[in-house]
Amino acid sequence: MSSDLLDKGYKPHDVEKRWYDFWEKEGLFSASERGNVQKSYSIVIPPPNVTGVLHMGHALNNTLQDILCRYRRLCGDNVLWMPGTDHAGIATQNVVEKKLASEGLNRHQVGREKFIEAVWEWRREYGSAIINQLKRLGASCDWDRERFTMDEGLSKAVRKVFVTLYQEGLIYRGNYIINWCIRCHTALADLEVEHEVHDGFLYYIRYPYSQGKGYVVIATTRPETMLGDTAVAVNPNDERYHDLWSRKILLPLMNREIPVIKDKYVDMSFGTGALKITPAHDPNDFEIGNRHNLERVKVIDDDGQMTSEAGKFKGLDRFECRKAVVEALKEEGLLEKIEPYQHSIGHCYRCNTIIEPNLSKQWFVKAKPLAEKAVRAVENGDTRIVPEIWTKTYFEWMNNIKDWCISRQIWWGHQIPAWTCESCEDVIVGMNAPETCSACGGTKLMQDTDVLDTWFSSALWPFSTMGWPDQTPILKLFYPTSVLVTGFDILFFWVARMMMMGIHFMGDVPFKDVYVHALVRDEEGKKMSKSTGNVIDPLSVIDTYGTDAFRFTLAAFAAQGRDVKMSEKRVEGYRHFINKIWNAARFSLMHIDKEYKDIPNESLSLVDRWILSRRFRAAKKVSEALDSYRFNDAAGVLYNFVWHEFCDWYLEAIKPTLYEKQGTNRKEATLSVLWRVLHDTLILLHPFIPFVTEEIWDKLPGTENSIMKSVFPLDAADDGSLCRDREAESIMKLISDIITGIRNIRGEMNISPSLSLAVSIHSQEEPTRRTVEQYKDIIINLAQLKSLSVENTRQRPKSAATAVVDNAVIFVYLEGIIDFTQEINRLDKEIGKLTGELSIVSKKLSNEDFLGKAPNHVIEKVKEKQRNLMEKQRNLQTNLDKIKALGV
Ligand SMILES: [Zn+2]
Ligand SMILES: [Zn+2]
Repeated sequence: MSSDLLDKGYKPHDVEKRWYDFWEKEGLFSASERGNVQKSYSIVIPPPNVTGVLHMGHALNNTLQDILCRYRRLCGDNVLWMPGTDHAGIATQNVVEKKLASEGLNRHQVGREKFIEAVWEWRREYGSAIINQLKRLGASCDWDRERFTMDEGLSKAVRKVFVTLYQEGLIYRGNYIINWCIRCHTALADLEVEHEVHDGFLYYIRYPYSQGKGYVVIATTRPETMLGDTAVAVNPNDERYHDLWSRKILLPLMNREIPVIKDKYVDMSFGTGALKITPAHDPNDFEIGNRHNLERVKVIDDDGQMTSEAGKFKGLDRFECRKAVVEALKEEGLLEKIEPYQHSIGHCYRCNTIIEPNLSKQWFVKAKPLAEKAVRAVENGDTRIVPEIWTKTYFEWMNNIKDWCISRQIWWGHQIPAWTCESCEDVIVGMNAPETCSACGGTKLMQDTDVLDTWFSSALWPFSTMGWPDQTPILKLFYPTSVLVTGFDILFFWVARMMMMGIHFMGDVPFKDVYVHALVRDEEGKKMSKSTGNVIDPLSVIDTYGTDAFRFTLAAFAAQGRDVKMSEKRVEGYRHFINKIWNAARFSLMHIDKEYKDIPNESLSLVDRWILSRRFRAAKKVSEALDSYRFNDAAGVLYNFVWHEFCDWYLEAIKPTLYEKQGTNRKEATLSVLWRVLHDTLILLHPFIPFVTEEIWDKLPGTENSIMKSVFPLDAADDGSLCRDREAESIMKLISDIITGIRNIRGEMNISPSLSLAVSIHSQEEPTRRTVEQYKDIIINLAQLKSLSVENTRQRPKSAATAVVDNAVIFVYLEGIIDFTQEINRLDKEIGKLTGELSIVSKKLSNEDFLGKAPNHVIEKVKEKQRNLMEKQRNLQTNLDKIKALGV
């Protein structure tokens, strides 16, 4: 390796691509299939949609995973980070349908087979975009093992699971009320329906008795569904309707006789307290219908048009029909009134079309038995959810789980492995297409046209990616995985289902830990969205500031349970940190010209001992924080150690030694410490900022391999304490407090940093005096003094500014250093200027017109300015008082 000096400034773009290619080429991301020697550590990536474009959520999620993987490799583990993408059924089908539409075609014109071919073609062309973006983020996935939920192996796993669950009676086919999107032509899971509040109407309709005069009034928001009513329901406790119990109703417009039923579900306070029951078009009515064995009359078809069951309304669109029904009711004098009414309406999460609850034949997974085991696994600690607060949410959801509708009426996905015999209608479920019907021997067998919900295949991700159903070596080595890193938004869609499937098929949980991170929001804590216009594109941030600065920002703000508030300004701030590291390394490498293997303990100076101890503490804290997923704490420790301790104190303190002539024991000792601390610090930083650390590492004498092959510096002889050298740490604390005290006085008194000061330190304590005397040189050097005396006296010198540290008092002599009169005038003038500015701001803040019209954040800004000015004024006043008190 070369010992060339580093360039003057750090240029991320040259460096990032070069090192990423190198790591990949050298196979440094590859997991080993040979076990026994190392501990296994594994993470499966939450597979991004193959249509995906890297957004802030991906950036945070994958940065955290990468930090963990790089850290565990440095700790000596055999790490598998399993990458891949999800085929994302509806999302991908929509993208390709749009593409066809631009050519004037729809998928029905193209046909199923050709359409699926077109999707695969699209995937070949554009499907790796998100993968390349993850690489720019520095993600150290084992790319040779990259999987796709529709690849051959995973498709086999999907069929195996489907067939097994079917044979076990845990998959069944049944009529069910589902959320139906008439545009996408598919069933949607409850979680895929988005609810919005609409201004609608409540229609009050008279339902006449079938015998005798009179009617009952019923309120509904969807009058067109009345055509499919099969009962009227009242609450058995509702005294208003006791006389109704024995009656029958003649359904208006249809002239069908329907019964009156009693059900406790009926809300007495809604509308009139009498409810129309349409089992085929409302989920609650469906349940009531089941309880009372009601007929299900389907009046709206899968295109949103009225069926022949709707009588004369047949063929109308559902919303046209609503108008027509209202008109017809009016004509017959059956419409009592219409009231404006706000209510929540479900929309398709893909296309925003209003959902039509509809009756349909679908495939279901019986979720209860699977969920029970998944609940127990978290209860008994086989899987731990971090932060713990999500455990409660998990239990709530799992304990109330409903059967999972897994069929989707689209083309892109895993086609359901079920065939119906045309002659005897027998259904055959199997791994492969059967040639003959097992019941009647018929040969005309039709495969079910539906595909499986995307989440069905991703539920198998932790074991299907490792080769299951085959018993592969990596499955043995890496299942259960160590941790799943995920956002809470897919806790139910995905995490809960992986738990159910993993436990059922592998006999063990899919992950030992689930780390749930927060969302990335904008600076003010608002959700990023295109319509608000506050979206920050991670790739443009990387272009501007470099990947390392971006990654460090994400880690620094990833506090548990708190959203990450992201702004370019913050990333810019951490770019200064990257530059600081670069400059510190550049300075160090000007002096280090070889590897320093051993540290000569006997020749170490106080600051050498101190920085070694602090380095030890930093390593320990970083590892503890990462082991408990406190990424922000780890980043904070590193920031503080590198910037304040290593750069501000250590490098400054050793400068005189570095400029001594070559070869003294003291200089050699310091160089050996500098080499060691720089070496170890790069390793500590590497998981967070992989690129800049590798670039510096490459230039550090004595490093032959990539930094990825180094060892995390947790010393073996760990006595459990955070510092190794308590004495050095406590002495250094005193010395640095004294220096800071003198520097503060310089600032308050406006003394130029180049002026050398005379200082005396008074203490009644002999050990303190002895220590200060012993390390006088450091204080003189770092506080820029011309003299320092240490005295045992209570006497107070004249014309000296003071500061107190522990049991010592610092006196900085000002005679001849500052011109008291001139300084008093200067401060007076500055305070006068501030008073002027303050009065302008205060006037603004008492102006009603301004307060009334200006947006909140503008007012807040002015208030903040006022606070800052007041603070400045207070400080200057304090300084002025001090000088006056010293006054000649
Ligand atoms: Zn839709
Ligand atoms: Zn048959």
